[in-house]
Amino acid sequence: MTAAAAALPPPLLHGEGLPPFEAIQPEHVDEHIPELMAQLEADLGTIEGHLGAAIASGRALDWVEVMDPLHRLGERLRWSWGVVSHLTGVCNSPELREAHARQQGAVVAFGNRAGQSQVIHAALRRLGERDDLDATQRRILAAELRDMELRGVALEGETQAAYNAASQELAQLSTSFGNRVLDATNAWTLRLSEPAEVEGLPESIRAQLAAAAVAAGEGGATAEQGPWLVGLDMPRFAPFLQYSRRRDLREQVYKAHVSRAAGEDRELGNGPVIERILALRLEQAQRLGYATWAEVSLASKMAGSVEEVERLLEDLRAAALPAAQRELDELRRCAAQHGAPEAEDFQPWDVSPWAEVLRQERFELDSEALRPWFPLPQVLDGLFGLCDRLFGIAIEAADGEAPVWHPDVRFFRVRDRASGNAIAAFYLDPYSRPGSKRGGAWMDECLVRSLRPDGTPVLPVAYLVCNQSPPVGDAPSLMTFQEVETLFHEFGHGLHHMLTTVERPQAAGINNVEWDAVELPSQFMENWCYDRATVMGMARHWQSGEPLPEQEFAKLQAARTFMGGSATLRQVHFALTDLRLHSRWHPDGGQTPEELRRELAASTAVLQPIEEDALLCSFGHIFAGGYSAGYYSYKWAEVLSADAFSAFEDVGLDNEEQIRATGRRFRDTVLSLGGSRHPGEVFEAFRGRPPSAEALIRHTGLVAP
Ligand SMILES: [Zn+2]
Repeated sequence: MTAAAAALPPPLLHGEGLPPFEAIQPEHVDEHIPELMAQLEADLGTIEGHLGAAIASGRALDWVEVMDPLHRLGERLRWSWGVVSHLTGVCNSPELREAHARQQGAVVAFGNRAGQSQVIHAALRRLGERDDLDATQRRILAAELRDMELRGVALEGETQAAYNAASQELAQLSTSFGNRVLDATNAWTLRLSEPAEVEGLPESIRAQLAAAAVAAGEGGATAEQGPWLVGLDMPRFAPFLQYSRRRDLREQVYKAHVSRAAGEDRELGNGPVIERILALRLEQAQRLGYATWAEVSLASKMAGSVEEVERLLEDLRAAALPAAQRELDELRRCAAQHGAPEAEDFQPWDVSPWAEVLRQERFELDSEALRPWFPLPQVLDGLFGLCDRLFGIAIEAADGEAPVWHPDVRFFRVRDRASGNAIAAFYLDPYSRPGSKRGGAWMDECLVRSLRPDGTPVLPVAYLVCNQSPPVGDAPSLMTFQEVETLFHEFGHGLHHMLTTVERPQAAGINNVEWDAVELPSQFMENWCYDRATVMGMARHWQSGEPLPEQEFAKLQAARTFMGGSATLRQVHFALTDLRLHSRWHPDGGQTPEELRRELAASTAVLQPIEEDALLCSFGHIFAGGYSAGYYSYKWAEVLSADAFSAFEDVGLDNEEQIRATGRRFRDTVLSLGGSRHPGEVFEAFRGRPPSAEALIRHTGLVAP
């Protein structure tokens, strides 16, 4: 340890190994992060000085001189800020949240400064002139250069000034777009006070609507007596639409939802904002040397061109349209059998309630009732056993060997079965903790695989975080089937991170993997939740030990494809609208974005948008989030994961020897190569051919009966 490093105050700035979670307190954030940022700023300046001098002297630059110091700099920030961000997600408190917010600006500003450094950009280009870089190094370098160039680092003079001004305007427009959607969502409510108006709503939904009324000042509201306050936020809107028997109210709520933030009013409506955002993106693309914004988006994705994405979406559309039409006919028939008048005049607000009726009639699937068959310890045994079988890894509990942030958190080690060597580790934080833990489920990196200067490896360590039901009394955590799927999904991300064999951290695990491909391992693992051997092997009643009844498994499998055509078609409609707006729409083209969407709806929807429908005005993914010309990624990654799973179907899911061999090949390609190769190449190395949408179409039940 050098003298400078020894002087660093532990623990937050230490920056190596497993974080000492038990010692970290919110006040350390304000104490240590500013100090760290000052050091990083100074070190960045030193690196720039050194590289600048080398460039000026015309000297050649090598990897060790350019990439290693930059990586170490980034890694110090990633480690320390990663710990802070992780804790805000799993151990939140007002103190921690405020400390995080106080320091975040400096962290973002540092990232921007490093990402737009002219000297670093020049050094990377100089490095790219070498002919002794291997394929992984070339890919890392290309991605770094591309990301810097997409931030405008290579632009000059007026073009750069215009680029920066447009970037700022775009950032403001997306924020205001998102705010208008939020305001419009919150501004609308529907107060119901008659029991007849909440007919059909389950008890839990009534309770939720009554709680909303209480929060709005109606202290006496109860689930039984009301009043009930309906809103447009998803947790209230979606179940209301699904369960309400009052067609008139559903219509009212549906219309309010699809017309959120609509209109040309500049204060409240997002209409004018959409055209401005699209026009600005087109200008930005052209400044960067691309023809359209879609090309900018695809520059950093697996999909090679707009045409390639169009082809995939067309394959899915062609399969989904007739399936969605059949599904709609079934819903109409179901409504007719129940004597409902809407059978003759089916409207968008009739879809979800009749789908719910049909689902219950057909599957009688009660997701709550399956919980006793899926206790967490057994599900983990099943999951770990599957990973052993497929990938040849042994997963062992190692609780107590690493500091944790909550007593419920577990720690596991992963060994290679053949060699017995430890290769990775992970934390599992399974239960929901309302109030201190963010919702949802995720995998994040704690330590990334790399080599220390002395040549010894740093083993990857993952955070796996879920929000499933905690144990109650003597019972273990009893999981819904959906919670099981979520655990398998996140574990797939974890395997991608942990089983990497790439020793350059910039391309190890999920690093440098194009984001339309990054969901491949996670969605791949979900497929095993429908594999008979896997499910029947782990699903046993936690008290009686009885296996899951055969017909329940059959229902789970059948329900998987229910309404699959409509769901696929809806995603295709959104993905294609997004893609066309960013590849074909032009401000002077004589067509509004909404007109373009409606034209597309003719072939991508079985119920045409109603007059009030202005869904673009609340399409936050592409106008307020990071999905512009990237919404297709959901389906793209699903094609990859379904096609990868079909390699196991091809050899026969009960052909043990071949399943193991195919699993090893998956480990040695998809899970091992990380971002060191183009994802298309990685996929072909596993599958022996380019991806095909056939498996996804089949798994979604879109093949004509
Ligand atoms: Zn995921």
